[in-house]
Amino acid sequence: MSASGDAANLPPAPEVVQIEVGLLQNLCEILFCPETREAAVVDPAFEVDRLLQEANKRGLTVKLALITHTHHDHIDGVGELCDKTGAVVVVSPREAAAVRAPGRRLADAVDGQDIAVGRRGVRALVTPGHTVGGTSYLAEGFVVTGDLLFVGGCGRTDFTGGDTAQMWESLQRLMRLPEETRVYPGHDYGETPTSTIAHELRTNRFLRCATFEEFRALREQKRR
Ligand SMILES: [Zn+2]
Repeated sequence: MSASGDAANLPPAPEVVQIEVGLLQNLCEILFCPETREAAVVDPAFEVDRLLQEANKRGLTVKLALITHTHHDHIDGVGELCDKTGAVVVVSPREAAAVRAPGRRLADAVDGQDIAVGRRGVRALVTPGHTVGGTSYLAEGFVVTGDLLFVGGCGRTDFTGGDTAQMWESLQRLMRLPEETRVYPGHDYGETPTSTIAHELRTNRFLRCATFEEFRALREQKRR
């Protein structure tokens, strides 16, 4: 069966390197094209020097910063990354103000739009709920979820811009992705640093809620 919905006709997937950084169990990814060696860094916040070393040792040129959302623990390294690489920052227009700076180049994360990483690519999915402009990045075989979906959990909705109903809708959207899709979350809060949609559908109690009311009660009672 060929993929449908959000996963239909995806460009060929970049390769992924997942790196844990900082003291808040943040997970970053370097996505790269193995042919052109062009790369995108997801949510540079901590240890930018180490992220760039990881890119350098693979012979990669960082062209993009892909932002899932603009909480500090996901963007505090954007300035340093852009200064050192000239990377274009891909971010939801609803959250762009947080990363805008003189001389910095921004591009809008538009729902359903493919973003080239060399000859490979990812698709922006606007998935609000944790924040107003939360964005996931879907590729053939994996999805980068930021603080929307964690292994065994989901993001909080009680920060500014959070919305439990939108969170529910966004999670429903991820649940419709092909089950073998690998999940790369924004924090290492689960039993493993990555998972799959199939595994989360079976085990993640936020995804196992039958109704929005059940989800809301669970989300509002649990603070992480
Ligand atoms: Zn967050």
